[in-house]
Amino acid sequence: MTAVVVIGAGQAGASLVARLRDAGYDGGITLVGDEPVPPYQRPPLSKKYLLGEMTAERLYLRPERYYTEAGIDLRLGTPVTGIDRAARTVTIGDEDLPYAHLVLATGSVPRRLPAAIGGDLDGVHEVRTLSDVDAMRPGFIPGARVLIVGGGYIGLEAAAVAAARGMTVTLVEMTERILGRVAAPETADYFRDLHTRHGVDLREGVGLERLSGDGRVHTARLGDGSEIGVDMVIVGIGIVPDTRLAEAAGLEIDNGVAVDAQGRTSDPAIWAVGDCASFPHDGARLRLESVPNAIDMAECVAGNIMGAGTPYVPKPWFWSDQYDVKLQIAGLNAGYDRVVTRGGGTAMSVWYYKGDRLLAVDAMNDPRAYMVGKRLIEAGKTADPGIVADPATDLKTLLTS
Ligand code: FAD
Repeated sequence: MTAVVVIGAGQAGASLVARLRDAGYDGGITLVGDEPVPPYQRPPLSKKYLLGEMTAERLYLRPERYYTEAGIDLRLGTPVTGIDRAARTVTIGDEDLPYAHLVLATGSVPRRLPAAIGGDLDGVHEVRTLSDVDAMRPGFIPGARVLIVGGGYIGLEAAAVAAARGMTVTLVEMTERILGRVAAPETADYFRDLHTRHGVDLREGVGLERLSGDGRVHTARLGDGSEIGVDMVIVGIGIVPDTRLAEAAGLEIDNGVAVDAQGRTSDPAIWAVGDCASFPHDGARLRLESVPNAIDMAECVAGNIMGAGTPYVPKPWFWSDQYDVKLQIAGLNAGYDRVVTRGGGTAMSVWYYKGDRLLAVDAMNDPRAYMVGKRLIEAGKTADPGIVADPATDLKTLLTS
């Protein structure tokens, strides 16, 4: 009998199977993915890979032969279509594959523009998979006019790459400002200025009304009544956890597949990890969409499948690359009631507080602020906002006080 079956050969699924083997698990492992390529890293899709500076093979987390050598049955291009919890099997094509432990690592799916407003026209793209990016490549050329819908990190990264390629870039964000869901106005101001300086026509408080074209998109009508000619549209309006199989199997869903502190779903034989899973945190439920979360949670759950009984405690961090700016984020800013900023110009950091407690730091081209902030947050310490804001402060002294 196959002992562990993992659905989803992405970052979390690949990390989990590797950790199982590294930790000495010698039962059968099957990793099932619906994409036709071995597990790969997604972050470069909106960065170096989109720019054409990285080959597809360099995206792979491990060479394909690793899975054979480690005795992992890697099935690619084969979606799991159902879970029979009573029989403890999953359906792949005509086959019912038995499991003792099942892991859901199905990730997220991008929100799409409705077909009713032109979302199904040729030339309209999302950025989630390697094939999404390969499909937009031929049109990603100097002089082409691209409309980016959505001012979150994916949209802003795509805008930076498009501008660097010499394309004419318009970005629309329907809420009042970019990064509204994820960052303070101070961080948004920094990135607005950065993009504007690189020639991006950034329009906030302006939504997309409809796209039109004759098969292929050629015009976008915006919420303010204006019309622009476009050769390509990139949609970055968020993602939703892929809970389809879990829902059909009757598992508890709560902003993703609900798991307990160890990563178990409402069925004790089934676990969930990565983007698709929501776990208990600070008296509420949290779901994170990041590589560090996918890896750390997968490794924790691999240990728990082997009986470790360890609760998953995230140490959130994230990054984004835009032009020559590296943004590094430590912590979670949800619930902040004030921020202080440090520095200015290209190196700047934004520190988020709730009362006196330091919650998170956005560090733009400032690795020291990131490192100090991360260490303070992980140690449950804070830092006096006045001292942080003082340019004379050597941040490292905060770690010893
Ligand atoms: P995924 O990596 O999405 O893997 C899930 C896999 O499961 C997919 O291959 C999916 O096709 C497959 N699957 C789903 N259903 C089935 C089924 N029924 N049968 C078989 N297979 C199935 N994070 C950062 O921390 N920093 C960044 O800078 C960053 N940049 C990003 C840029 C882009 C363009 C994207 C798309 C994501 C970025 N992320 C970034 C987010 C990060 O990549 C994700 O959080 C991470 O990949 C989540 O891992 P996962 O394994 O949960 O999901």
